[in-house]
Amino acid sequence: MTALNKNRWSISILTFILTLALLTIVQVKPRQPLLLGERLFLYGGWIQVLLFSVYAGFIGWKMSDREDRKIWRGRIWMLFSIVFFSQLILGICIDTIFLMSGKLHFPIPGLILAGPVYRFEIGFMPILLISTILLSGPAWCSQLCYFGAFDHYASTRTKRRPKYTQKHKNSIRISVLILILSSAFILRMLNINEPYVSVLAVLFGFIGIGFMLFFSRKKGVMTHCSSFCPIGTVVSVSKKVSPFRFQLNADCTQCMKCIKECKYDALNISNIKKGQIGYNCTYCGDCLSACHHQALEYKFPGLSRFNAENLWIIITVTLHACFMAIARI
Ligand code: SF4
Ligand code: SF4
Ligand code: SF4
Repeated sequence: MTALNKNRWSISILTFILTLALLTIVQVKPRQPLLLGERLFLYGGWIQVLLFSVYAGFIGWKMSDREDRKIWRGRIWMLFSIVFFSQLILGICIDTIFLMSGKLHFPIPGLILAGPVYRFEIGFMPILLISTILLSGPAWCSQLCYFGAFDHYASTRTKRRPKYTQKHKNSIRISVLILILSSAFILRMLNINEPYVSVLAVLFGFIGIGFMLFFSRKKGVMTHCSSFCPIGTVVSVSKKVSPFRFQLNADCTQCMKCIKECKYDALNISNIKKGQIGYNCTYCGDCLSACHHQALEYKFPGLSRFNAENLWIIITVTLHACFMAIARI
């Protein structure tokens, strides 16, 4: 049994306590109830706090086992997206109580950046994104984004071929990022009205879905997230502001068994031969159980590799549970 397994109860309890503390603040502090349960019935917010804390403890337990994590990360990510989009549909079709602000926004990740550039104002989402990157590096793209779960699901429909590597992915990613930011700025400068801009935003979202359907599903790699999404690019580039790292160590025998587990194409033959992990690694941990040489590891200053991994699980699962409890449009 590994040190990680021995700490399963501690991870589970700590995740429960952290989630309970954070959601209690969310329940007590704001004057307008943020938690949906509180809006629906008396003491509903407190029931929601308790249920989500128990959920976080359970997921902390599941995610602390490397084999389980591969399965459960995909499940909880999809659950988050289903909860998020169900509330959006209920908000549009039934009652605005299911929306956070009552104001509709397009749930397309690229707009987290393009929106503030177009409006010339920093909204809540960029601040949330930056805070998440500071706390957990690239975890946003491993289980905290409502959109990426679908790309993950599409990529799991096919087994990844170990020799497959996405060509030109970095140049495409950077070009899309520059294109979306410059387009938002030009549209603002030209004073183009929101209805026209919305059409472009929806078109951008559909192109992203096209990547999932036509590439991710066939190649077994998250093509949308690792080649197209501008937020994924920002997360990949800026993740080093967080103290967490995920790395390949000197014990690697270059057996290449881990490649097929990486849906982000961060592990490929070329990277492993250079002793590196690609910059689009989201620290998801899916590859860990494939390596029998302990050559893949989390790092955090002052902690052993296993404690760094445990801390990563506690932080990301807590964020996941809190996001799912609060996140609405
Ligand atoms: S790359 Fe984009 S769509 Fe994918 S998880 Fe990250 S923000 Fe979401
Ligand atoms: S990290 Fe592990 S599984 Fe991957 S190539 Fe190196 S030794 Fe093999
Ligand atoms: S290298 Fe491992 S941790 Fe990084 S994205 Fe790929 S599977 Fe996840």
